[in-house]
Amino acid sequence: MALRVGIGHDTHRLGPDRPLILGGHPVPFDRGLVGHSDADVLLHAVIDALLGATGQGDIGDWFPDTDPAHAGVDSRLLLREVLSRLGQAVEVLNVDCILFAEQPKLGMHKASIRASLATLLGISDDRVNVKAKSGEKVGPIGRGEAISAEVIVLIDRHGPISPPPSGPPSD
Ligand code: MG
Repeated sequence: MALRVGIGHDTHRLGPDRPLILGGHPVPFDRGLVGHSDADVLLHAVIDALLGATGQGDIGDWFPDTDPAHAGVDSRLLLREVLSRLGQAVEVLNVDCILFAEQPKLGMHKASIRASLATLLGISDDRVNVKAKSGEKVGPIGRGEAISAEVIVLIDRHGPISPPPSGPPSD
């Protein structure tokens, strides 16, 4: 058993006329997160945690936001691509997440977001935990201008990870 840990963090701004998607789960709200992709802040942090645990750089290496191919992309597809490239060499043991949002209140959505994440990762719900914190009315989170996510993942690396076909940039 070769245990490895990775962390991920992401922040996106809230704006009008956008769906709010967290962990692949649509959350009803009058605003959504703004970004080059669908701006799923939680999946972006999960991806960064997985890439961190496997020494594979960060999400910007893999999916540059300057690439028009990623405009408006469903972040579930990005996670799926990372998981497929990591393949059988990686078993996700558990994922713990914190969502920071003043608005909307996420308490009632935690279970659905957890189930969505577990499904996307191909693991049971009991290996995933989702916590929600408000911004205590302080800073951009507390003013309801943005949502952040922090994620830690523990994996068991069974073998070598072959480099992706196109590969993260070497620079
Ligand atoms: Mg992001």
